Amino acid sequence: MRITVFHNSNTKSVHTAADLIAKLKRAGFLVVKNNPEIVITVGGDGTLLSAFHEYAHMLDRVRFIGVHTGHLGFYTDWRDYELDELVASLKGDGSEQIISYPLLDVGVRYAGDNSVTHYLALNESTLKRVSATMVTDVYIRDELFESFRGDGLCISTPTGSTAYNKSIGGAVLHPRLEAIQLAEIASINNRVFRTLSAPVVIAPDEWIDLYPDPKGKDDYVMTVDRFVPKKRLITAIRYRIAKQRISFAGYRHTHFWNRVEDAFIGEKQHG
Ligand code: NAP
Repeated sequence: MRITVFHNSNTKSVHTAADLIAKLKRAGFLVVKNNPEIVITVGGDGTLLSAFHEYAHMLDRVRFIGVHTGHLGFYTDWRDYELDELVASLKGDGSEQIISYPLLDVGVRYAGDNSVTHYLALNESTLKRVSATMVTDVYIRDELFESFRGDGLCISTPTGSTAYNKSIGGAVLHPRLEAIQLAEIASINNRVFRTLSAPVVIAPDEWIDLYPDPKGKDDYVMTVDRFVPKKRLITAIRYRIAKQRISFAGYRHTHFWNRVEDAFIGEKQHG
């Protein structure tokens, strides 16, 4: 089995990754940089996000495993002191559980280009305007839904719902749901301008189109997870659930709501 170990630059992650590589080699695994079957990330959810983009071109052949060196994450199941168990689970009888989650397809039309440029997001994509109000028509399934005015809009996957989406008041979605969510970033609502002012979750066979107002197009910023694609004039963006999915190997059943509780609520008392 060909395995890549992908880590962030924090000292604990560097040491844990070196340890893991030694254990994997001792157990007879091939530790490689190219064409891995399994990518093990060591760090946090952000590290897994980076690894996802590094290997996004081969999602049909690669599975991910997240080892966390900080707090329990949403994409990271294993702790840094459980490396022996992790290696043993990889040597198992092949009956390991593989779980996969939906991704967001971001189809962008740039001015002067007839083709559509596609990006894949694991967490979310945002469209924002920094210097002035963003004005964007929002269509759902080709019907005008609203004309948005405000700082921006965030379209997230179920697994991304606990990230930026949650900070702006979006709902937390169970990752087994096949859906994408649209959440507003500081919308303007007054006598003149009106938006729904609530997060929207659309069905698997629906899509969302944004048409940024041509007047502000040159200072709109589009993000895809932690990346900002090279700036060009955007005329339209279509968001829908991607055909590809992300797969996790050696998945351990931490109940999703336990993760949410652990990450955001922590210690509490009954009643
Ligand atoms: P980052 O430092 O990699 O991530 C920011 C924080 O978000 C970290 O604590 C990270 O956890 C956590 N995170 C990442 N994915 C998550 C998920 N699916 N569920 C819950 N928490 C998650 O920051 P970055 O490189 O700028 O961007 C990475 C992500 O950060 C973006 O995709 C976006 O979702 C999020 N972000 C959030 C805000 C906000 O909440 N205001 C602003 C910008 C970006 P770890 O510590 O485990 O890595």
